[in-house]
Amino acid sequence: LITNINFLKDKLKEKGYKLNKQRKQIIEVINENKEKHLSIDEIFNYAKNMNSDIGIATVYRTLAMLVEIEYVVKMDFDDGVSRYEFNTNSDTHKHHHLICIKCGEIFGLEEDLLGNVEEYIFRKEGFLIKDHKVKFYGYCKRCNGSTKK
Ligand SMILES: [Zn+2]
Ligand SMILES: [Zn+2]
Ligand SMILES: [Zn+2]
Repeated sequence: LITNINFLKDKLKEKGYKLNKQRKQIIEVINENKEKHLSIDEIFNYAKNMNSDIGIATVYRTLAMLVEIEYVVKMDFDDGVSRYEFNTNSDTHKHHHLICIKCGEIFGLEEDLLGNVEEYIFRKEGFLIKDHKVKFYGYCKRCNGSTKK
């Protein structure tokens, strides 16, 4: 399941970390939930299903390690919970986030949509934009009763 395991092993070795079974299982959880924005507790619960011996401290330490080697990105959505998501590629545009203010679910929006806005700002302010991060707050389709699939 871990397709890039050798790459990961090398990265970890550079930093003096070893890839043990528990760390592998946590990486597996990340890899299987690439489109999600999981909290420590959620990652812990998934990992515990694979291995009941896993402790929350291991999850904390492993995630700190994975952030350090830039395998995952730690994100904050102003709800007091840190979330982790797979780092697609630090050079490319990151997806935008749709945050449901009712159920707390976080969705990624892949389309950029903001090219025109960047152009407009450059024309108006002479400010050359290299990147942006956008969070949209509202009600997800489940919470607003929308039939949109
Ligand atoms: Zn919702
Ligand atoms: Zn995301
Ligand atoms: Zn964008």
